[in-house]
Amino acid sequence: MSSHPPLSASSSTEICLSLIIPIYNESPMIEPLMARLVPVIAQLNVSTEIIFVDDGSCDDSWQALSSLSPHQCEHQCIKLSRNFGKEAAMSAGLMQARGLAVILLDADLQDPPELIPQMMSAWQQGFDVVNMKRRKRLGETWFKRFSAASFYRLINWMSDSPVPENVGDFRLMSRQVVDCINTLPERNRFMKGIFSWPGFSQQTLEFDRDPRFCGETKWNYTKLLGLAMDGITSFSFKPLRIATWCGVITALFAFGYGSWVVTKTLVYGDTVAGYPSLMVVQLTFAGMQLLALGLIGEYLGRVFVEVKQRPIYLIETINHQASSKHGQASTQTSQATEASAAKSNISYLG
Ligand code: UDP
Ligand code: MG
Repeated sequence: MSSHPPLSASSSTEICLSLIIPIYNESPMIEPLMARLVPVIAQLNVSTEIIFVDDGSCDDSWQALSSLSPHQCEHQCIKLSRNFGKEAAMSAGLMQARGLAVILLDADLQDPPELIPQMMSAWQQGFDVVNMKRRKRLGETWFKRFSAASFYRLINWMSDSPVPENVGDFRLMSRQVVDCINTLPERNRFMKGIFSWPGFSQQTLEFDRDPRFCGETKWNYTKLLGLAMDGITSFSFKPLRIATWCGVITALFAFGYGSWVVTKTLVYGDTVAGYPSLMVVQLTFAGMQLLALGLIGEYLGRVFVEVKQRPIYLIETINHQASSKHGQASTQTSQATEASAAKSNISYLG
C-alpha cells in the first residue's frame, strides 16, 4: 500500500477532492448542508469540487442549486432528465468527478460532513477506500434496523464479493477505484455491491449516523425490497443454485416415495387410498416449481434490462461554477453552456 500525495502537492489545476451529493426533492436541505460543508472544505484547504446531482426533483431543488454562490466553493450541478434513482444519480456523479479522492455524501446531513478530514487523512495514508460504518442508526425504527441487518447477512452469505455490514454509500474512494467503477457497464446499479467489487486497500471508520435533518426518507419498503432483490440477483447465482439443489433433493425424495408406492401396490394391491398425500405432494411440487420459475424470471428480467443497453441516466443540463484559487470565480451557467451540455449529452449518457 503506497501513500497518496500530500494534500498540498496537487497542482493548481488538479482537483484533489470531489464530493458527490445526490439530490431528490431536498430544496430545504441545500442551505443547511452548505452551511456545514463550506467550513469543512475551507479547513481542508485543498482544491475541492462539489458535484450536486439533481435526480429529477419536482420541488425547487434545482433553482436552489443554481442560485448557489460560486464564491462559496467550486461546484457542478448536474440535472438528470427525470428521477432515475439514487444509484443512477451516484453513477452520474462518479462519471463527472475529477478529484483524486471522491466522497459520496447524502444531502440530508445524515452523513456528518465534519468527518471528511478524517476520511482524507486515511486516504493520505494510502487507503483506496474509506468505508464509513454506522455504529448507531439514530432516527430509524427497530424494523428498519432489523431488516437492514438481515439483508447484510443474506447478501454476504450469497455474494462472492462481501458487502461491509452497516456501511452505506457514505465513503471515500481513490481515483483508481472510481476509474474501475466507471468501467463497469451494468445497468443494474446496486452501488453497495459495485463499490465493494473492485477491492483495493480498505479502512473502516465508525460513526454515529444522525437522523434526517428535515423531510422524509425517499425509500419505502417496496423500494428497499426491490434494491435488496437487485443486490442479490446482480451479485450472486446462489439462489439459482439453491433452487437446483432443492430440485435434486425433491427428485430423490420423489423417486424413493414412488418406489415405495409401487412396491406397496405390488405387495398389498392397495391402489385407491392416498388422496391426502397425493394433494400434499402435488401442492408442494407446484409451489416449488412456481418459486423456481419466479426466481429464473427475476434473473431473466435483469438480463433483459442489460441486453437493451439503455443508458443508466440522461443528463439534461450541467452548470459548472468554477472558482480559482485566487478568489476569482468563473461561472459557466450561460444558455450556451446549457445548450452545448444538452447537445453533447450523447456523451453524457451513463
Ligand atoms: N435520492 C436520490 N434519488 C432518489 C432517492 C433519494 O438522489 O430517487 C437522494 C436523496 O436526496 C438523499 C440521498 O439520496 O440525498 C439519500 O436519500 P434518503 O435520505 O431518502 O435515504 P435514506 O437515508 O433513508 O436511506
Ligand atoms: Mg437519509
